[in-house]
Amino acid sequence: MHRWQISVLLPLAAVALFAAPAQEPVTLQGFSSNSTGKERDWESKLRSIPSPDNLRNYMQRLSARPHHVGSPYDKDNAEWILSRFKEWGWDAHIENFDVLFPTPKERLVEMLEPTHFKAKLEEPTVPGDPTSGQHDEQLPTYNAYSADGDVTAPLVYVNYGVPQDYEQLERLGVSVKGAIIIARYGGSWRGIKPKVGAEHGAVGCLIYSDPGGDGYQEGDVFPRGPFRPPDGVQRGSVMDDTLYTGDPLTPGVGATKDAKRLPLKDVQTLTKIPTLPLSYADAQPLLAALKGPMAPAAWRGALPFPYHLGPGPTKVHLKLKANWDLKTLYDVIARIGGNESPDEWVLRGNHHDAWVNGAEDPVSGTAAELEEARALGELVKQGWKPRRTVIYAVWDGEEQGLIGSTEWAEEHADELTQKAVAYINSDSNGRGYFFAGGSHSLEKFINGVARDIDDPEKKISVWKRSQARRIEDAATPEERREARDRADLRIGALGSGSDYGVFVDHLGVASLDVGYGGEDGGGIYHSIYDDFYWYTHFSDTTFVYGRALAQTAATAVMRLADAELLPFDFSNFADTMHRYGDDLKKLLKAKQDEVRELDREIEEGVFTATSDPQKTPVRRSRRT
Ligand SMILES: [Zn+2]
Repeated sequence: MHRWQISVLLPLAAVALFAAPAQEPVTLQGFSSNSTGKERDWESKLRSIPSPDNLRNYMQRLSARPHHVGSPYDKDNAEWILSRFKEWGWDAHIENFDVLFPTPKERLVEMLEPTHFKAKLEEPTVPGDPTSGQHDEQLPTYNAYSADGDVTAPLVYVNYGVPQDYEQLERLGVSVKGAIIIARYGGSWRGIKPKVGAEHGAVGCLIYSDPGGDGYQEGDVFPRGPFRPPDGVQRGSVMDDTLYTGDPLTPGVGATKDAKRLPLKDVQTLTKIPTLPLSYADAQPLLAALKGPMAPAAWRGALPFPYHLGPGPTKVHLKLKANWDLKTLYDVIARIGGNESPDEWVLRGNHHDAWVNGAEDPVSGTAAELEEARALGELVKQGWKPRRTVIYAVWDGEEQGLIGSTEWAEEHADELTQKAVAYINSDSNGRGYFFAGGSHSLEKFINGVARDIDDPEKKISVWKRSQARRIEDAATPEERREARDRADLRIGALGSGSDYGVFVDHLGVASLDVGYGGEDGGGIYHSIYDDFYWYTHFSDTTFVYGRALAQTAATAVMRLADAELLPFDFSNFADTMHRYGDDLKKLLKAKQDEVRELDREIEEGVFTATSDPQKTPVRRSRRT
């Protein structure tokens, strides 16, 4: 998971941004001012070790077969990863958790009216792509943690299915009460769609990949190009992670063998209505048959027909039934003990489980993490002794709801709140620009790291290249000025899009999420086509950005592990809080102005004068 992050968790994130271990003194200097020559030597040795060939080999091995939670190859991969850590000199073990992970037993989508059509719900083998044919081991296309159900109802198109879309539907006189909704992917995290739909009275939810999102409107589709083919489906969890992440049966505690478990009927994080993802090939006949008002211009996708809203005449039968059993997770946990402060832990993680073969998500990041582990192990053999303890975690069950990281952190919460210094996460990696999100107390620190990493294609630092991109993309002169003149590039706040969630949002451990991307577009996310063939044809095909990620994260780990004073900087944090305050004031003023203007237009009779008496009233396009 990674593509869509929730940015509305600001208050939570803000608390965590401030997090630093209480016992540590804080420096206002960037790292470079207090690193010694000896530390610099170790760092350049470290950065010379990661090899693109190794990254390629790890990816080929880890993505060779489907490896979702509960599959034989998920366990096999975890054991293989464990052996590598041991071979590289780490003290490593596997921690198991038993968690609720529903898999489909029955899936049916058929259109009953105005004509009959049965959705295929299958992703076909692509000739030339050797792993796309492993159908016996692939998870069917579905949304995990959807409620079971059997419903028949008229269909309504709800755009992205976010709250504003329902305001618009109301103005158009369209209700979803008793209807099955069809939403396109995008615009929010997918779990929001069935949640908001159910709140408005919908009885079922279909989520489809419009070709205007990551399909043919963007470019050639797989296997000719990187974009989503007609039958490609985005799997994904729809667990209500606004309540809690991790195993639905064990909120707040590790899902160990004898943990106290909620009965399934008391679990609050499942959807209220049955929910299933569709390819655009399957969605097309359903949408094409809809009548009722035209969808507002901004709601129309790239399929070749007029987008209507319904309800009906399309009538859909949706039936879902899952196996609600427990599956075992395999978290690989490895450590190098600290020499001077063993009870201060620098944590680094990436997940290893995937929806299917998952070459991009997550293996592109997992491979980098492994190559860092090999490099750090190599340095230990050469005499490097980290001041603090370094812990590398390779998580299982991320895709289902950050489960492996959440359960491990819950199980070790007391120790982590005492000992964790910082957590560095990565997930999918691609080609292009360096990105970082995280706690603003680490903003200056990660800028310092990025200044020391070379962009493999441009031979300038990855920091310089990101800065150039920001100058070019700036929306306002003010943004451009800041990109040029501010000492550090701003980092975004983290939501709950990957395994940092439990650390930053629950335990208050300062966290970073890092990676490369922006030149690696595609439409294989969470489908069977996210595989070695796709990655080695369309993404970081030479693995040089995988090497850059390994160099970046390993440098960050080494600096945090060896710094005499931890490199937290609270002036960047304060600056960010100040900016949030300004943004809120601006937002308030804009909303007030907008309401005043609307009141005035109502008084002037603007809407009465301009509404078309032959149409249902729609607010003007600037407000859609
Ligand atoms: Zn991922």
